[in-house]
Amino acid sequence: MIAEFFKLGVNPGERLSPVQWMSRHVVVPHSARNTQFDSTTAQWMNEPIEEIAKDTNDEIIICAPVGSGKTTLFEALLAWIISENPGPTLVTGQTDKTAKQWAESRLGPMLEAIPSVAKLFPKDRHQKRKTEILFPHMPLFIGGANLTSLQEKSIRWAIADEVWRWKRGMLEEFRRRTHDRWNARRILVSQGGEEGDDFHDAEDLCEKREFSWQCLCGEVHPWDFKNIAFDRETDANGAMLWDRVAKSARLVCPTCSHEYMDDPRIRRALSSGSRYTVTSHGAPGRIAFHYDASAVWWIPWGSLAVEWVKADLDRKAGDTEAMKQFIQKRNARRWTVQGTGATSAEVLACRKDYLRGACPIEPVAITLSADVGQDTSHWTTMAFSENGDSYVLDYGTVTGIDDMIQIAQSQKFKTPDGREVTPIGGLLDSGFNANAVYRACYLSGNFFFPAKGSGANFGSISESVLKEYPTMPLYTVNEFASKVSLFIDRIAKRKSPFLFFPKDSSEEFLSAFMGQKIIVSKKGRKEWRSVAGDHFADSVRLNYACAQQLRKAGAIEFK
Ligand SMILES: [Zn+2]
Repeated sequence: MIAEFFKLGVNPGERLSPVQWMSRHVVVPHSARNTQFDSTTAQWMNEPIEEIAKDTNDEIIICAPVGSGKTTLFEALLAWIISENPGPTLVTGQTDKTAKQWAESRLGPMLEAIPSVAKLFPKDRHQKRKTEILFPHMPLFIGGANLTSLQEKSIRWAIADEVWRWKRGMLEEFRRRTHDRWNARRILVSQGGEEGDDFHDAEDLCEKREFSWQCLCGEVHPWDFKNIAFDRETDANGAMLWDRVAKSARLVCPTCSHEYMDDPRIRRALSSGSRYTVTSHGAPGRIAFHYDASAVWWIPWGSLAVEWVKADLDRKAGDTEAMKQFIQKRNARRWTVQGTGATSAEVLACRKDYLRGACPIEPVAITLSADVGQDTSHWTTMAFSENGDSYVLDYGTVTGIDDMIQIAQSQKFKTPDGREVTPIGGLLDSGFNANAVYRACYLSGNFFFPAKGSGANFGSISESVLKEYPTMPLYTVNEFASKVSLFIDRIAKRKSPFLFFPKDSSEEFLSAFMGQKIIVSKKGRKEWRSVAGDHFADSVRLNYACAQQLRKAGAIEFK
């Protein structure tokens, strides 16, 4: 026995903290940075690990940016549990498939590479399946967040991954597995999700701790991308100078304005000297840790800045998806849709001092799109300014969808400088009568393209190819996100870039934007309630989708 201890390099009776134990024993065969677990690599993990080990805690949450070593945390933690603090353990990922893949490709090889864990593996290979390892002293279950995996088991160590993607109610099912054990621990790890999801509701019950850095002036500040400064410059043609954005990134102290260069040694030194600070109190035994990607020293601040500016340009073009991803995956914070719709007064306030049929600006593009219905199709023509503001120039209805080609030819406007401007393209909604719309788009000769709405709760616009018309793309527009952008950001909040209507807009036109509201379905899903007679609003959303596509294709650029 003693000989075995010496062989393993452990002194009998020595009590190591979990982080010390991991540093001594854990090997990470697949890691890009270290093959040996190193407690100085990801400092932001050390305090959470020590809290996880304390029997006085019930639930530990780590809200972490992607690529910050959280999978390594799970693996090191499991090794420590199996070797040092055994008890029935459940690891729950998003799906059975992802959990199984991870167990097979990463966890298994890693556990077998650690002598003190490998010697505990069951001799009988039937006790060792991909989703279940029955060690002689404890079972380890691995599965997805579903009722089958979370069925009747009494668990001491319950570990949950990517909780933001779990179906509502699964977290409570997961918690139930630990109810009859006084020393049970639940560990929830995830990137940011959405306001009101189970993960962030759990986080809000906790004492919150923020990973914070200390400036030379002595002040301690939570790591926050907001403190990364950078220069945003464009060339003479309005194109962003990305190199300038990346090279100018630096960390600025909000107290003394001292600037820290974006150098890996500086980033690592600041991260090493960081510690958690309590920012709000919560229920006893529940702690939520959070850190921002700017604390993760191997991610250059310059690349975060470039990513953010790109997301901001998309947002200005009416596409919030990249910003949502940045907030969830880089800031590791929840995405919040603030507001639930637009009031009638807010719709009326969009009217500006120009008449229908006039173009009050020098536009970078004019688009014409239509919502196609059974008897009537509703169209709008919109002009976009160089900063992304949008102006409805004209609107109307047609009975036959092929009539849209005549409308496109008739739309001509004079700008304040006296230029004549015309629409350069548009989208026709193919959700109702797909074949007629495809045909009309085909006949328009690359002026109109078909688009349909999608009920997905992610993404903005995607492109697919039509079998019947192999040269014509079909666009799929995320309805929920595009309605948030139109009704909440542009109309209710008057967020830049703005939307303007002509001052003589008709009641029929304006009412299409009224009564729009987000409701919560029986399944707990947020959705826009359906509003009769909102076709003009749909055609405006299609114009935004069109402008986004033109931007992606490099045909127009917003500042
Ligand atoms: Zn300072």
